[in-house]
This record gives sequence, structure tokens and C-alpha cells, in this order.
Amino acid sequence: MAIRLFNTYSRAVEEFQPLDPPRVKMYTCGPTVYSHAHIGNFRAYLFEDLLQRHLESRGFEVERVMNITDVDDKTIRGSRETGEALSEFTAPFKRAFFDDLDTLRIKRADAFPEATDPRQISAMIEMIKTLIERGLAYQAEDKSVYFRIKSFPDYGKLAHFNLDELQSTGRVKSDEYEKENVGDFAVWKAWDAEDGEVAWDSPWGRGRPGWHIECSAMATQLLGEQLDIHCGGVDNIFPHHEAEIAQTEGCTGKKFVRYWLHCAHLLVDGQKMSKSAGNFYTLRDVLARGYSGREVRYALLRVHYRVPLNFTWEGMDEARQALGRIDDWLARLREHAGQTDDAGAASENQFSAALDDDLNISGALGVLFETIRETNRAIDQQTLSSTDAARWLRWWEQIERVLAVTDTGDSAIPAQIAALVEQRAQARLAKDFAKSDELRDQIASLGWEVRDTKDGQKVTRRAGA
Ligand SMILES: [Zn+2]
Repeated sequence: MAIRLFNTYSRAVEEFQPLDPPRVKMYTCGPTVYSHAHIGNFRAYLFEDLLQRHLESRGFEVERVMNITDVDDKTIRGSRETGEALSEFTAPFKRAFFDDLDTLRIKRADAFPEATDPRQISAMIEMIKTLIERGLAYQAEDKSVYFRIKSFPDYGKLAHFNLDELQSTGRVKSDEYEKENVGDFAVWKAWDAEDGEVAWDSPWGRGRPGWHIECSAMATQLLGEQLDIHCGGVDNIFPHHEAEIAQTEGCTGKKFVRYWLHCAHLLVDGQKMSKSAGNFYTLRDVLARGYSGREVRYALLRVHYRVPLNFTWEGMDEARQALGRIDDWLARLREHAGQTDDAGAASENQFSAALDDDLNISGALGVLFETIRETNRAIDQQTLSSTDAARWLRWWEQIERVLAVTDTGDSAIPAQIAALVEQRAQARLAKDFAKSDELRDQIASLGWEVRDTKDGQKVTRRAGA
């Protein structure tokens, strides 16, 4: 069964053939840790997770690296504003990022290299040296080192535009006079006063690496000179990934990446997400409204990765309902299968077959819900044997390894809800029933229902909330 993937480089769906099967070397651009990652970032990380899990379900051994950008203009600005050292400023955002990955059940990459790691900085410096030796980079009057795009004929091939256009239409800013060409990008940025304490020694003076060189160096350092898959969001295509190709191939002389995969944007209520428009959400913002990690996971996974995803609260409720159907179906099947465990041979899974087609998740979910409908009907009509039920449960296990949305109870009650429930217990102890009712309404507005039983408060998610 061949897997087919859309390659941004060729703009065509191609049969997936890694260099050294079953190994797959996969690099995914990671977060810049100056704030909490937003749901658009997580859409891309979830698409990458789906890709990895599907490849693994098809027998590939995926080795994945995701970088952590912990030095750039934004992290430096943030640390200046809070008066902390750069590493102190970024540490809590790194921790939060890993917590969020767990909440969304995203498999950990094999390595999460950090840009400020001295080994990575040396790898970047080595690459820049090679680029200069080969005439592909130069140090300008401002002491920064730039990549010379006109010396790399393939520049522009990933983004599919030609270099002459870029040169003739590029706006030349007055402060860019040092560069030979407006499109030349910095691989090493010379220190300036804004950088404060953040600087490393290099053959070109003190400074810091450019963002693009981070990924080229980390990818080749940890995965080798040639990757099978490189992913990111569409906004990474240019200049970031174009620059990665130029730098890496400029150093190695080998084809850097076989398959470039890019995830489309996430919109909120049909609009671009932005802080100024008031429609900007981190994962934590969504959880605070009473949704669980698996609900967010499902809502962000269910749209094909190359189609823009429109995030809405109705969409979150649809995700909750869809998962409720899966939960109910599994409960029925388990009851029906009883002790039967003789499920026979697993049949070819049409769910996986749909994903083989460039991760066609809508097709795959269509197969799942059609199966749920049919088996529910068979149970109603008492035509489903316990062996059949056991077989469908085994079928689900294969799917769950890829979807990872089963109710495990781990994300049952968000911390915010648990805190309100605790306050309500205190109010009731103090016989403050007005306060208790007020808290119950507040909990209800967040999508949870609290009932008083003889064993104390019982908290459940509100149906259709
Ligand atoms: Zn990158």
C-alpha cells in the first residue's frame, strides 16, 4: 500500500519513498518560546503528529526532530521587557510548550534541540564558515554575514517564484544598503545594543545566528545531510524553508529534503487570528472554556491539512459531539463483545487507506462514522455477534493509535473547573447557598454540570454545551 503525499517542492502528489526505508527522517520547525503557542501553531504540530502516527502505523520507523527557537528578536525583546536573562525568560514558555504537547497527546519528537545550545551554535558557525569559503555568504559593512542568493541558482524553487522578479520588485530599505542584494538574508547578525547580553563569539565578531541557519544546522547535525520529510506551516515556505534549502545544499551539495509538507492557516470565525482583533487563542484559552485536550485535538485534526481550518466554538461543540458518539459506540461494543476475545484476522482498514491518500482525514473519519452507524444498527437489530463486536474493537485499536482521541479520563476536569468546584464545596460547608448557586451557574457557563449527590458533588461535561 503506497502512501502518497503532496510535495510543496514539486506542487504534486508523489508516492512516498524514503531514502532508507523503513527509516524516515523527519524535521519539523518548532516554537519560538516568547509566549504560549496559539491554536494555529498547534494545528501544524497536530498535522505533523498525524503524519508521524500514520507512517508508523504503516510500518515506517520515524525519527523526528523539532527545534526550539529560544533566541531571536522576540525572545530578546521579551527578556528586556521583564528584565530577566534570556534563558530565565524563555524557560517557563518551554515548560508550557511541553505541557501543551501532552495535553494534545502529541508524540514527543526524538530530539528538541535548542538554538542557544553551545553545540548547536558551533554547528551553525561551522556551516557559515563553509558558506563563506564557497562564496555563498559574505560579511557586509554592518558586520553581519549574509547569504548571497544570486550565487544559488535554485533559490526560489520551493516558493515557486523567480529570482529576477524578487530583485526587480524588492523594496530597498535605506538601512539595507550594506547588502549586495535586497533578498540576501542574514545567517549571522552582528551584535547591537538592543541585544544586551545576548551574544556569542564568532570569526566575524560577537553576534547571534539568524533563524534560518538554526534549522539547517540542527537538522543536519541530528538527522544527517538528507531528510525524507520537512514540515511546517505555509508561512514557513518563504523565506524560512527556501533559506534552509539554500544554506544546507550550499554546504553539502546534496538534495536536502525529499518531501516538503506544509499545513494551511487556521482562521477564527473566518478571520485571520490576531491579538488586535480579539480572536487570538492559546490552547490554554480554549481549555479555560471547559474543553478538554482531546476535544481540541479532534477539532484541529479533522480538517485536511492543506485546507484552511476555520476555528469556531460551534466547531468545538461538534468535536465534543463526535467524540461522544465514539465513546458511546465503544461502550456498546465492549458490552456486546463481553468476554469474547477471538476477533479473527484484522481486515484491511479503510480508515488507513484513506490516510494513505495525502492524509485524507475527512475520508478516514467518513469511514469511521459510517462504521459506527452500521454497527450500531446491527446491535439494535441484534445481528451483531460478540465476535463481530470484538473484531470492531480491534479495528478501533488500529485507528486509535493514529487518532489518539479515546476518553482516558486524564483530561476529565480542567484545573479551572476543579477550583470552582472546590470553592463551591467551601460555600456549601459555610451554608452560603446563594454563593453555591452562583458558582454552579459559573461552572455551567464553562460547559460543566455539577450535581449534589450523597457522595458529594459530581461533575460532568454538559451535553451539547
Ligand atoms: Zn525551521
